Amino acid sequence: MNKKLKYFCYSQNSINTYKSCPTKFKYKYIDRINWKNNDIDSRDYYENLKLGRDFHLLCERYFSNISIGSYDNVPSKFIIWIEKIKKLIPIEEDKVYLPEYELRYNMNGDYLQAKYDLVVLGKNSIEIWDWKTESRKLDYKNVENRMQTVMYMFLAREIIPRIHNMSIESEDIKMKYYQPEFDNEPVTITYNNKKHENNKNKINTFINDIKRTEYERDKEPISNGLRLTKNKNHCKFCEFNKLCNGEEVHYSILEDEIYGT
Ligand code: SF4
Repeated sequence: MNKKLKYFCYSQNSINTYKSCPTKFKYKYIDRINWKNNDIDSRDYYENLKLGRDFHLLCERYFSNISIGSYDNVPSKFIIWIEKIKKLIPIEEDKVYLPEYELRYNMNGDYLQAKYDLVVLGKNSIEIWDWKTESRKLDYKNVENRMQTVMYMFLAREIIPRIHNMSIESEDIKMKYYQPEFDNEPVTITYNNKKHENNKNKINTFINDIKRTEYERDKEPISNGLRLTKNKNHCKFCEFNKLCNGEEVHYSILEDEIYGT
């Protein structure tokens, strides 16, 4: 295993990066290259990312019971979005609201982490909320099997009941993706023990592959090592396209970065 992975904390973003292209994982997490262009074409892309972060901050303030002020300095669409969220998730006295909630977990020596936009704890329920501000409309099929769902639900099941002393079943956990630009209702993912076991296996398989990959070819081969590969099908969605292939990066189709982990 590469020594940079010794204390590595696996997140949905890092596993997704490996899934999309192992070489991209090497650039981002082994070589720690932070590729950010500063040209005119990329401005809209980074502006949209900033917009997403600002909206997440506004939601964090609301669910932390911090005044969100007069709305004078926020984009007008944020006012509509936050009002929709207030209606959808009214603050109730017997529930606990945990915005920007971060979890870490040691799974047999591998560290996992997740950062949730909002966790709502009821007496016998856990709701995980995720705000999506991207311009592509999501549906159940888009989100049911994505690594974010896998990681967030797995960690919620493993850790939240223990931390908060709750006695709940897997069926009491739900994940809700909400796109205020499009919807009045969230896309809701349900959970059960079978999904939990599958999620655990998926995470373990990816972590084992990441650890077995030979990122530096001149080093001693790793037993059962995997050759570092490039996924050419992903290049047009990748910020390293210029570095890898000398080709321009098309920001309009670049994968969205996820805010947080
Ligand atoms: S440009 Fe293509 S091969 Fe290079 S890291 Fe990105 S996806 Fe992988």
